Amino acid sequence: MQSDKRFNIPDDLKQCISFHGHLCPGLVYGYIVAKESIKLLDLKRSMDEEIVAICENDSCAVDGLQVMLGTTAGKGNLIIRDYGKNAYTVINRSSKKAYRFSRKTTYIYDGKHKDEFADLESAVSAGTANDQEKARQRLLKAIDLFSKPFDEVFSTKSAEISMPPYAPMAPSVSCAVCGEMTMQTKMVPKKDEAGKLICLPCSNLVNLMS
Ligand SMILES: [Zn+2]
Ligand SMILES: [Zn+2]
Repeated sequence: MQSDKRFNIPDDLKQCISFHGHLCPGLVYGYIVAKESIKLLDLKRSMDEEIVAICENDSCAVDGLQVMLGTTAGKGNLIIRDYGKNAYTVINRSSKKAYRFSRKTTYIYDGKHKDEFADLESAVSAGTANDQEKARQRLLKAIDLFSKPFDEVFSTKSAEISMPPYAPMAPSVSCAVCGEMTMQTKMVPKKDEAGKLICLPCSNLVNLMS
């Protein structure tokens, strides 16, 4: 247990943990990618949409990026393309520079608890690990990932990127079926009544039946 006690969690990682709910390997992936992109792109946390993150998975890592970079689900500067890849592109709009980070290899534990970790891993993959053991395995892996040099975990390539558009703003209008206010650009024409717009849930019901 010694190495855990000596593991001093930096304040910014603490913020990620309190947002995300626990310390886990995924969160550390997001955290270290964010730290590296801050360094490479000279970033400050995004108050508006000046930083854009494209995440190629929808894992715990996304929360690390949201907290560290301010690329959040609500602002439209977090784009999730769930290809199931541990890869992230971070874009600085003002300098028009971008980097893509992609995990290099299969994970290998390299910390101070090799035997314990190996036992935990086999229990986890056999499906026999209890919650405490699963949590311990996640913690050991998270600490180990945090301690590895970034270049060992991720490859870094500068990315040619066409700037993603700013989050679209459009007026809301009332749906011709349910009456709920809906962003106009997300609506579809009602088949039988020209000029009337309906929301997507209503279009699934109405247009399919007509
Ligand atoms: Zn997590
Ligand atoms: Zn509707």
